[in-house]
Amino acid sequence: MQAAQLFVGLDVGGTKTAALLVDGNNNLLGQATLPTHATNPDELLATLTRAVHATLTEADATPQQIESIGLGVPGQVEPATGIVQLAVNLNLQTYPLGPAVSSRFKVPTFLENDGRAAAIGAFNHVRQMEPVQTIAYFSIGTGISAGLVLNGRLYRGYNGMAGEIGHILVEMDGEPCKCGLRGCLETIVSGPAIVRQFLTANPQAESQIQHAGDVYRLAGDGHPVAQKVIRHVSQYLARAIQWLIMTYDVEKVVLGGGVARSGQRFVEPILRELAALRQQSSLAAKLLLDEKLHLISPDFNPGLWGAVQLAKQNVLVEAVHM
Ligand SMILES: [Zn+2]
Repeated sequence: MQAAQLFVGLDVGGTKTAALLVDGNNNLLGQATLPTHATNPDELLATLTRAVHATLTEADATPQQIESIGLGVPGQVEPATGIVQLAVNLNLQTYPLGPAVSSRFKVPTFLENDGRAAAIGAFNHVRQMEPVQTIAYFSIGTGISAGLVLNGRLYRGYNGMAGEIGHILVEMDGEPCKCGLRGCLETIVSGPAIVRQFLTANPQAESQIQHAGDVYRLAGDGHPVAQKVIRHVSQYLARAIQWLIMTYDVEKVVLGGGVARSGQRFVEPILRELAALRQQSSLAAKLLLDEKLHLISPDFNPGLWGAVQLAKQNVLVEAVHM
């Protein structure tokens, strides 16, 4: 194989690390998913190295053909220095992961927080269908976040925390949140919160419920407690979508994450809530349109493709590590 320019995207999670190898036209040449070993930084680096090599082997390519590497990493990421902080799932307090990967592969490396990397992936995905400029990628899973791409550029905010809407306070004296406050959005609409609300009202159902998808399925089957919980959750999700639209005037709110994998069962009750809001207000009728929602397909991984776009510098990225 001749020395084509290849790009690697890595989505580094606490339990698994996924990698993609693509060429300049985004043709997929190799992919790998490995368990993340991260009891110390050397082990983490070894995991990333193995993942990259697995994609190279599949493509019959060499490390010298890699042009650059993009990484989505949990925790606080400083794109300018490549330093990762407070990535508790990776046992990293403060670690220069960008420079470490750069020196391992002798290529530029671009890092971003995984939620923001996913916003880049979602943005490029939607742009293949429509020429959008301003979107929020609203991820509803174990955690809740809304990565923002405004006027074609990733928006990080002053502390790199823009879009951490899981910790917006929505309920006085609500449930305790892992951030230390009470009544955060995450304590109502996250996957574990949906399961908790259902089991609180229906404790004998514990053996039937593993994750939020089970509550959505029961609601779809007409279970009255599940329906009540999903209605409550959907009211808050519709309001979160309303905040994103009213605050940033986004063209699309792209919905993803584990909870959104319930598909139409997840979206339909949100659409009903938006319709109810439109009925009450001409402003809502103008802005809260169903077509502003885009449910991402379960087989598209925005975090991983976002890392590829980071490698290719497809959305504003601030720094290079060599
Ligand atoms: Zn919180």
